[in-house]
Amino acid sequence: MTVEAELGVLAGVEDEVQAEESHYTKPEEVIDFATRTGCDSLAISIGTSHGAYKFKPEQCTRDPKTGKLIPPPLAFDVLHAIEEKLPGFPIVLHGSSSVPQDEVDTINAHGGKLPDAVGIPEEQLREASKSAVCKINIDSDSRLAMTAAIRKYFDEHPEHFDPRQYLKPARENMQKMYAVRDRSR
Ligand SMILES: [Zn+2]
Repeated sequence: MTVEAELGVLAGVEDEVQAEESHYTKPEEVIDFATRTGCDSLAISIGTSHGAYKFKPEQCTRDPKTGKLIPPPLAFDVLHAIEEKLPGFPIVLHGSSSVPQDEVDTINAHGGKLPDAVGIPEEQLREASKSAVCKINIDSDSRLAMTAAIRKYFDEHPEHFDPRQYLKPARENMQKMYAVRDRSR
């Protein structure tokens, strides 16, 4: 068994634990924490957030062309300070879904209501993956991919009610999303 521990506070909800605000992981605490807990990997807080609404509109700027929110950048200085404290130690990012806007648009086009859902830009995740970050959690992206496919399916096949029918495109859409991520590393 391996243990992954989280130090610092991510905004959002995870396993029934909710936080309004995020607090970056303090680099000066990570050696003591990793040593005393004996954890195998460390999830840190550098501005990622659990859920599909990672940032409030007032934390973001808005793309004048598309009207979509542009989130604040991740705290790479904190990440690099942690890397220096724990050379070679596996770092994990929770709450790092990119919240693909095509999936959000599909959901909204088929009866959903996710205005201003926003995630971590993929180029920042790609940048983070070049560091000690060895795992990036993207659960919300799977949920969005699945929900988008099911909403679209229900809209197009209102007569269907068998999960074996609508879970098929839902799974396929999730697989497609993971395959794209894997290729874009
Ligand atoms: Zn977490």
